[in-house]
Amino acid sequence: MRVVVVGGGICGLACTWRLQRLGAEVLLLEQTERVGGVIDSLEADGFLFERGPQSFLANASLLELIAALRLSEELLEANRRAPRFVLVRGRLYRVPMAPPALLTSPLLPLRARWRLLTEWARKSVPPEPDESVAAFTRRKFGSELLERLVGPFVSGIYAGDPERLSLRAAFPMLYDWERNYGSVIRGAMQSRRKTKPSNPKTRPVLANFRNGLRTLPAALHRALGDVVHTGTTVQAIEARQANGRPSITVRVVRNGLNDLLAAEAVVVATPAYAAAALLAGVAPRAAEQLAGIAYAAVNVVSTGYRREQVAHPLNGFGFLVPRSEGLRTLGTVWNSSLFAGRAPQGCVALASFVGGATDPEAQHARDEELLGTVSQENAAVLGISGAPVVHHLERYARALPQYNLGHTQRLQTIREDLARLPGVFLAGNYLEGPSIGNCVDVAFRTAAAVAEFFGTETTARRSGTGEFQKSP
Ligand SMILES: Cc1cc2nc3c(=O)[nH]c(=O)nc-3n(C[C@H](O)[C@H](O)[C@H](O)COP(=O)(O)OP(=O)(O)OC[C@H]3O[C@@H](n4cnc5c(N)ncnc54)[C@H](O)[C@@H]3O)c2cc1C
Repeated sequence: MRVVVVGGGICGLACTWRLQRLGAEVLLLEQTERVGGVIDSLEADGFLFERGPQSFLANASLLELIAALRLSEELLEANRRAPRFVLVRGRLYRVPMAPPALLTSPLLPLRARWRLLTEWARKSVPPEPDESVAAFTRRKFGSELLERLVGPFVSGIYAGDPERLSLRAAFPMLYDWERNYGSVIRGAMQSRRKTKPSNPKTRPVLANFRNGLRTLPAALHRALGDVVHTGTTVQAIEARQANGRPSITVRVVRNGLNDLLAAEAVVVATPAYAAAALLAGVAPRAAEQLAGIAYAAVNVVSTGYRREQVAHPLNGFGFLVPRSEGLRTLGTVWNSSLFAGRAPQGCVALASFVGGATDPEAQHARDEELLGTVSQENAAVLGISGAPVVHHLERYARALPQYNLGHTQRLQTIREDLARLPGVFLAGNYLEGPSIGNCVDVAFRTAAAVAEFFGTETTARRSGTGEFQKSP
């Protein structure tokens, strides 16, 4: 086999799909019996719940993939105007979606609004070597913005701790704006100007599928066919040079039997800790750095209620909870308000998140305790009476990679070490952002890098075929 892709999550699936389209001979190996990784949906008593991610921002790569898989008809788009809320002193406040609204929002005290308004006039340079998201926000905008908006936002994306997350790695655009313009507001304005005319209708929209997120990996599996081998665990990757070309051996276990596969290139599309184990023998420095990437645990509590049990209108996306509120729930998404078909007639479906980097203790809590706590907290915030009519708890001990301080340097070391190993590539949610859209972007870029490695992509592009050709 020419290219072996390890890991059948969205990164591995999208990369394999792209490689196949480019004409590569490719094989995808997935250790479990199903593809999709953390993406999966389930039905319970007429409710449609998501086990992991709840929805996605449909960026250009995802839309391309969805169209090519003929899934456009299945796509459901959330209302662009659906407001998001933040809980402050027990009350839900709308999150301001545009800069002018930030300045008038009662969510922020006057002092915080003044600092936002005048930030453009206070030019600064990012400190070296790396700064946390919390330190950056305090320095530029003050602690209120950190506590009420940035902290909850960070837990919504990374399940992260702003005191440990690296601004440069987790929000590179903000870092670049300060570095290039001395101010993030100036940077934001410049970038708006450059990307104009920015039609709000063409901005990525929050989406899901009629039958849940599982639709995407299932369609990729169907499209790839027998290129996908589930129930196949990769144990190690070995690499050497033969006749001036890299020769890669992939050690696999399948049905309890060991096997060796020869490849000319391999894409490791597993979580970082799994990639570390696979590469330990051939790239020890990269493996050490991969193993050092921390993961936050996340528990997803899905609940269904009869509509009349919930006093709140659930008119929006859901709410995030600042840590200072003293709740265990990080946030709750009102899925049935965003997408049709999530709950039976007269019912609503919610999904709440517990754990993350700021509450590692949640991992030691029993299932009933987490379910009980989330139900009570949602009840207090949303005015819910009675127990959920249905619930489901999904626990991820290592859910999301943390782009913590030093992450940029860590990735640099990994890249340098792997540069010595021609034919070995990485694709993963620890590289360029954890969202599904980021994963598809990375997967496509990695496929292009593999094609380039075979030395034919440029020729193919020029000849207009866009296909792999046998290297001389
Ligand atoms: C709880 C949760 C909520 C999230 N919410 C959102 C959201 O709302 N929106 C959004 O855009 N993103 C969200 N994300 C992020 C996004 O879903 C993930 O970053 C993305 O799906 C990860 O895809 P992946 O392919 O990198 O990894 P994974 O999905 O982890 O897939 C990796 C695959 O590799 C396989 N594997 C590992 N080791 C081996 C081996 N040795 N041999 C063979 N196979 C192996 C695994 O079995 C797995 O199938 C969320 C993530 C989680 C966990």
